[in-house]
Amino acid sequence: MSQQAIARVSRRAAGRWQRGHPWIYRSDVTAAPDVAAGAVRVLDEQGRFLGRALWSPTSQISLRMLTSDDRAIDTGFWRERISAAVSYRETLHIAGNAYRLIHGEADGMPSLVVDKYGDYLVAQFLSAGLEAFRADIVNALRERVAARGLLARNDPAVRGHEQLPQTTELLYGEVPEQIEVREADVRYLAAPWKGQKTGAFLDQRENRVRAGQLAHGRTLDCFSYHGSFTMHLAAHAESVQAVDASYEALERAEVNAQLNGFENVELIEANAFEYLRHQESQRETYDLIVVDPPAFAKRRDAVKQALRGYKEINLRAMRLLAPGGYLCSFSCSFHVNAGMFREMLESAAADSGRQLRWIETRGQALDHPEIVQIPESSYLKGAILQAGS
Ligand code: SAH
Repeated sequence: MSQQAIARVSRRAAGRWQRGHPWIYRSDVTAAPDVAAGAVRVLDEQGRFLGRALWSPTSQISLRMLTSDDRAIDTGFWRERISAAVSYRETLHIAGNAYRLIHGEADGMPSLVVDKYGDYLVAQFLSAGLEAFRADIVNALRERVAARGLLARNDPAVRGHEQLPQTTELLYGEVPEQIEVREADVRYLAAPWKGQKTGAFLDQRENRVRAGQLAHGRTLDCFSYHGSFTMHLAAHAESVQAVDASYEALERAEVNAQLNGFENVELIEANAFEYLRHQESQRETYDLIVVDPPAFAKRRDAVKQALRGYKEINLRAMRLLAPGGYLCSFSCSFHVNAGMFREMLESAAADSGRQLRWIETRGQALDHPEIVQIPESSYLKGAILQAGS
């Protein structure tokens, strides 16, 4: 693949890259290269060289900058970037064996996600430019990480914008339907082929451990999925109720409870909004509640409505807290920023009639690095609040 094709971009785009953000939108490409997806050289309006980028001919994000120099994007390039990403995870001394190895833009590999579940890898190739380097990336991963298999969970909808097929494919070795992994003191099954994301929500790992440390008495895990928070709560609390709308997720939660030998877990298939309302009408209380809903705002124009949903669920949870009880609240909507999240909690607290102490601000686990100049690399917000008497 020739990488000599040239893209010219506006001054605005050049400035953005010089400040450290790798995305160049279609509207900022002043002369598009006439080549298939892959890597291209990028020049500014004056013809000054800016670097090399992944080129996605049909995407709104046309270019994703890779370098500021003119080195070729080859196996050696991917080997270095992958090695740096893996080395960073080694410095974290992660308590567990399921974590993110490559977090896209934040690891200098835009649109690439690679998660590790024990001896197996699950990858997502989320742009056409990146897909063109699949073989190099797979080879470099095989060299750097000893794994028994690599699955491509290439089914996210964003692949459609890149005119790429949505598929789930084994790229080498074998990857089982379910993988038992460790997370601090608990174990759970991840579902790489059919589960959400790449098989589990790894970004919450550190928050789950923290919630476990605070858990006591009666606890409630809303939007539990396959019970990853639930397991940490069950290890310390008298009882846990796990509420989720997905029967399939709860089935796995049940197996996860058995795997850990927990008999204090109750699984409830319900709409969390309705369940909280019902528990309030019954005057139930909890010593710790986790609220970890799906992204209510997938797009910017959905933020207002999403905030109403977040407020309602948090307000109801606040009302259910026993004196001294904790609320561990999260939002994974990128478009709901930290300021909006805090304001939403303020507003919910005001309406709840309870006084709440802000105990901790939380975020995504360190294996999902957040780059200061790349706001999109940072999406998970969390807070731990404690109810007054
Ligand atoms: N806390 C989980 C991840 C939660 S993902 C973990 O750490 O692994 C969000 C979950 O919310 C999904 O399992 C989805 O099935 C569930 N969900 C979505 N809408 C819901 C609703 N209205 N009521 C209950 N569960 C819902």
